[in-house]
Amino acid sequence: MVQKLLVVEDSKPIATVIKQIAQSLGYEVVLATSLAELEEILSGDTGFFAATVDYALPDANDGEAIACVLSHGIPSVVMTGKMDDETRQKILAQPVIDYIPKENSQAFLYLKRVLHWQQTNENNAILVVDDSSSARNHIVELLKRRNFTVFVANNGVQALERIQQYKNIKMVITDLEMPEMNGIELTNELRKNYTREQLAIIGISGAENGIHSARFIKNGADDFLRKPFCPEEFYCRITQNIESLNNIAQIQHAANTDYLTELSNRRAFFRHANQRIVEYSKRKVPYCLAMLDIDYFKKVNDEYGHDVGDQVLKILALYMRKHFSSGLTARLGGEEFAVLLHGLDSDQLYNKLDDFRREIGVSSIPAGGNQLSFTLSIGVVFDSTEELSKQMSEADSALYIAKEQGRNQIVISGAEEHE
Ligand code: GH3
Ligand code: MG
Ligand code: MG
Ligand code: MG
Repeated sequence: MVQKLLVVEDSKPIATVIKQIAQSLGYEVVLATSLAELEEILSGDTGFFAATVDYALPDANDGEAIACVLSHGIPSVVMTGKMDDETRQKILAQPVIDYIPKENSQAFLYLKRVLHWQQTNENNAILVVDDSSSARNHIVELLKRRNFTVFVANNGVQALERIQQYKNIKMVITDLEMPEMNGIELTNELRKNYTREQLAIIGISGAENGIHSARFIKNGADDFLRKPFCPEEFYCRITQNIESLNNIAQIQHAANTDYLTELSNRRAFFRHANQRIVEYSKRKVPYCLAMLDIDYFKKVNDEYGHDVGDQVLKILALYMRKHFSSGLTARLGGEEFAVLLHGLDSDQLYNKLDDFRREIGVSSIPAGGNQLSFTLSIGVVFDSTEELSKQMSEADSALYIAKEQGRNQIVISGAEEHE
């Protein structure tokens, strides 16, 4: 569903910039250039995902538009040209997502980040742990304003249950003093099972004593907040920690994924296939490891160009993902792919691979305005007890034989000896 952003702004150039930013993030923009126009719009339509509100409008020069938008329950970012402390306090006393001084172009870059977070925070679940319901509710309210998915717990013991229950929790915000299990003990327990790459922990305490921040950090917390805190500081800490978690996840994804096809790369394939093979051998699950290589792929590049070649690789990857959905698929490099399949007997596994080879061979593949056809050669190893690298080289030798014997065929490793 398209998310609608309400932009309240009387300056045309600024409205244009905000509109461009919002549209680049996929928002549909509705513009109000005065309080009167805003009221008119809101009388008919309140289905807005978020709003940006200019502090001063021609017919409302003292922030009146903010209350108007907030009264309709629309999460709002305030844009202001006024920088004085009184204005800032007045804005932050209201439940806004954020306020942004329109000082320079940095303001718009920041706005873009805020609008982006608003769209993605839903995927970042946060667990709030506090025995005081008023303290808990305050934090929950701040997080909900920013569109986070939020879970709550009364103490450390309950927190450990919740984190088992909801696997998407990425951050725990915990109070220090709580019955049953306090925040430091909780942090300690969590760190036994979750690394800092998997889970961020932020400690909170009202105690005057500065020692608590150090204790939290030394027990594995990533950050610390002292009560009472202002919403701005709270949001900065939360955002920084969530962003760094997401950055790590992105780096890990990139390190394990082939950039062109989005399949696993060689490295990730080795790691995952190794784990699976050990498991299959232990449980006596039949499986096979296959290497697939496009025949005469160089000719595709030569005839249609490298871009079309790239598209062919992408499309083949899509077919593989669909056809071998329960297996492990990877691009090992160039036009060479691997599949690890299980869950059927050897004949069925063989047929599944050979059906795929046949289907590709008779299909015409749309790429770059052309209809292409190509074939695949496959080398496969069944139920080997060898280690993975040995199995890979055996599959590779079988693939080589398939090429030698004329391509567009599947060869089973060791089969020639059995005949
Ligand atoms: P064979 O049937 O013996 O496998 O012949 P082939 O032409 O498929 O194999 P060869 O190893 O001689 O050539 C592989 C070609 O794959 C050469 C290279 O330009 C192309 N290739 C490798 N990686 C990519 C890529 O990422 N994109 C494109 N478009 N081409 C690639
Ligand atoms: Mg407490
Ligand atoms: Mg090839
Ligand atoms: Mg090759």
